[in-house]
Amino acid sequence: MLTQQQLENFAELAVRVGANMQRGQEVVIRCDVQCADFAHVIAQTAYKFGAKRVLMQWRDEVLGRIDMLGASKEALTEVPDYLIAQNNYYIQHKVCLISISAGDPNIMKGCDPDKMKASSLANMHANKEFRNATMSNLLRWTIVSIPTKAWAKQVFPQLDAEQAVDKMWEAIAHIMRLDTPNPTEAWRKHIDTLHRRARFLNEHNFEYIRLRNSRGTDLRVGLATDHVWLAAEEMGQDGIPFTANMPTEEIFTAPHNRKIDGKVVNALPLVNNGNVIDDFEITFKDGRVTDYKAKVGYDALRNILTTDEGVLSLGEIALIGKHSPIAESGILFYNTLFDENASCHLAFGASYPTTVKGGNEMTAQQLAAHGMNQSLQHVDFMVGTKDIDIDGITFDGKVVALFKDGEWVI
Ligand code: ZN
Ligand code: ZN
Repeated sequence: MLTQQQLENFAELAVRVGANMQRGQEVVIRCDVQCADFAHVIAQTAYKFGAKRVLMQWRDEVLGRIDMLGASKEALTEVPDYLIAQNNYYIQHKVCLISISAGDPNIMKGCDPDKMKASSLANMHANKEFRNATMSNLLRWTIVSIPTKAWAKQVFPQLDAEQAVDKMWEAIAHIMRLDTPNPTEAWRKHIDTLHRRARFLNEHNFEYIRLRNSRGTDLRVGLATDHVWLAAEEMGQDGIPFTANMPTEEIFTAPHNRKIDGKVVNALPLVNNGNVIDDFEITFKDGRVTDYKAKVGYDALRNILTTDEGVLSLGEIALIGKHSPIAESGILFYNTLFDENASCHLAFGASYPTTVKGGNEMTAQQLAAHGMNQSLQHVDFMVGTKDIDIDGITFDGKVVALFKDGEWVI
C-alpha cells in the first residue's frame, strides 16, 4: 500500500500531468466502485488545483457480469438515452476526463460471446460522438491504473489476494515514479526525454527501421510516407497539452504497409482474448504476412490473422528501451496500459491516423496512398528482446544506430 503522500502525488500526476486540468474546469472521474478510495483522493486533488466541479461516473464490473448473464441480447443492445445525454454534457462542457483502468481480466469468463459482441457494438455505436471527441482531442483525457483484488491475483497467482495487491502497488509505485522525491518533476523530465528522441527520429525522416536480434529477428520495416513519431504528450484542440496514458514509455509511428520484409520472432507472449500465443515467428514480403508459425497458440494466432485483409500487415512500430521501469519489472500485467509499454512492439492491423502528417483530415484513400494500414484489428505483439539492435536507414542509405543491446543509444 502507498503512503497517503504517495497517493496524493499519484493523484496530482493524473490531474496535472495526465489530463492537465486547468483552473475552473469541470472534471469527470470514471472508475469502478472498487477504486472509490483513490477516486476520492483524485477529487480532492482536482479541487486543490482549482477544479470548478468534480463529477463521478461509477462503473461496477461485477454488475456488468450479472447484466451479461441475466439480461437478454435485445436488452443489452438498447443504450439508455440518459447515458448518451451524459456523454453529450461532457462534450458541451469540455470536461477533462480521468479514467482509472483496473479490473479483473477474466470478469466475463463463461459469458455468451455473441451477447458480449452485440452489447459492445451497440455501445460503440451509441457513443460514437463521444469517442470522436476523445480521439480527436476535443476533450483532454488520461488513464491511470491501480490494483484491484481479482486483477492482482491474476498477475501474482502464487500470492493470496491481499499480498498480491500489496505487491502490485509496489510495482505501480515504481513504474509511476512515486518513489522519487517529486514525481511530477520526474514525469516532466521523462516526457522531455521521450520528446527529444521523437524529434530526433522525425528530423531523420527514416525510410526504414531495421530490427535484429539473436532469436532470429531480421526485419526491415518501411515507414509510412510523411509519418510522424509520437510520444507521451498530445495537443488538445484548445492548444493545451496532455498525456493520455500514464504510464507511457513508447515512441511510435506507422509502418508503410507495402514495405515490410524479413522475419520477426516474438519476445514476450501475446495474450489475446484470454489466449496465450508464444514462440511465434512471422515472415513478411512487400508488407504482407507470407508465413507464420507458433509453438504455443497457433490456432489463436490464425484466428487473428484471418480477421480481414488488413490484419496481414502492420499498423504500428513502437520503441521502448529495456531499462524502462515497466520492462525492468518483468511483470505481465494482462492490461494494455502496462504491457504495451514493456517492450518494443509491432501491431497487426490498423494504424493511427495521427501518425501521419495531416492524417486526421485524410480520407481512407489518402491514408492508404501513404501506406497507412487499415483493419478492424489492432493487435500489439512484443518484439524487443534484451539484445535487440535497431537502426534507422535514411532515403540516401545512411544507417543511424538507434538501439544497441535492447536500449536507446540516442
Ligand atoms: Zn504502442
Ligand atoms: Zn498499439
